[in-house]
Amino acid sequence: MTRDIYGELGVRKVINAAGTYTMVGGSRMSEATLEAMNAAARDHVVLKELQQKVHGRLAELTRNEAAFVTNGAAAALHIAAAACIAKKYGRLYRALSPEQIAKSEIVIHRAHRNPYDWSVRLVGAKIVEVGFPNTILPTTEDDLEYAITENTAAIFYFFMGAGGWMAPGALGFEGTLRVAARHGIPVIVDSAAQVPPVDNLWRLTEMGATACVFSGGKDLRGPQASGLIVGKRELFSWIERTAFPEYGVGRMFKVGREEIVGLLAAVEQYVAMDHGARAAWAERRIASTIAEFEGDPVVSVRRVYPNEAGQPFPQMVISFAKPGCAAEALRQLREGNPSIFTMAADDRSVFVNPMTLRDDEIDAIVSRVGEVKNSL
Ligand SMILES: *Cc1c(COP(=O)(O)O)cnc(C)c1O
Repeated sequence: MTRDIYGELGVRKVINAAGTYTMVGGSRMSEATLEAMNAAARDHVVLKELQQKVHGRLAELTRNEAAFVTNGAAAALHIAAAACIAKKYGRLYRALSPEQIAKSEIVIHRAHRNPYDWSVRLVGAKIVEVGFPNTILPTTEDDLEYAITENTAAIFYFFMGAGGWMAPGALGFEGTLRVAARHGIPVIVDSAAQVPPVDNLWRLTEMGATACVFSGGKDLRGPQASGLIVGKRELFSWIERTAFPEYGVGRMFKVGREEIVGLLAAVEQYVAMDHGARAAWAERRIASTIAEFEGDPVVSVRRVYPNEAGQPFPQMVISFAKPGCAAEALRQLREGNPSIFTMAADDRSVFVNPMTLRDDEIDAIVSRVGEVKNSL
């Protein structure tokens, strides 16, 4: 008997048709991951010993020199930034003076500024912006060179596949890596939502990034409150001495043995998964939904690829005939039974992303769209 915890609390379950959005719980853990977390919760272990074993295994699985589990990608960005400052001084972050931290510089492309960079800002270093968030004057390697000084501790790069929401104008990833290599400056990549493709787990560090950050709670399907840093050994001795269970900033980013073990279980499954078969399943479900509404005077369905996170995974956009009806459609889908959560694609269209859906949920969405279309 599984317990209906949400029912007991009077909280409505939603079908997540939006994708791996944190506000509805990101993704669903597999039974194998839940089992690993349950088992981990039952006994005590020495955390550092568990970390060493799991991080070694995660490094192997992701074909990196080193790995570290945090309690989210946002936490990982903060820890990585603090570790870069510590590395620059050759001194623990918690042992640095406020002045030493404040005069350190972290370079970020202006086109990459986004709400997740609070994680980097709060480390206390000076954020040095480079370039413009548009295509009038694309950022050059020289522009990035000029932004580097003796105080530069790191370059933070927000990596996103084509079609993603990032503004244009930044210097390309390879150019950024070239400039950083010339100056021996670490490049930390926020690639939190950049799986799929699975090979981003190793490709970005193989290209030359010092470390890449992934969210454990998005498509990796690990614990919601988990994140993964992978990369080069040279930075990880600093990450290990900055992050939990060390005192200092790391203590604020507590990660439990359940998350550590759960993320490992999830990554094991993710790298072993048949990603081609999964994409083919999504394509079939999209094709059948398009066919379902073929010739419908009110509803039309189209395939979109890549998705708005820049992931090479197909999704659907369902459009209703009435201009400006998207907000009302979202409301009715959310307030209906079952409750369906998604986002607007434009003023009369909504997204349905198969990534977080089961077959029975897609069936339920198709049938609910058939009802909603008549009341818009
Ligand atoms: C989701 C996301 C994060 C935060 O990841 P969490 O694991 O939820 O902390 C950071 N950066 C980007 C670009 C993201 O999409």
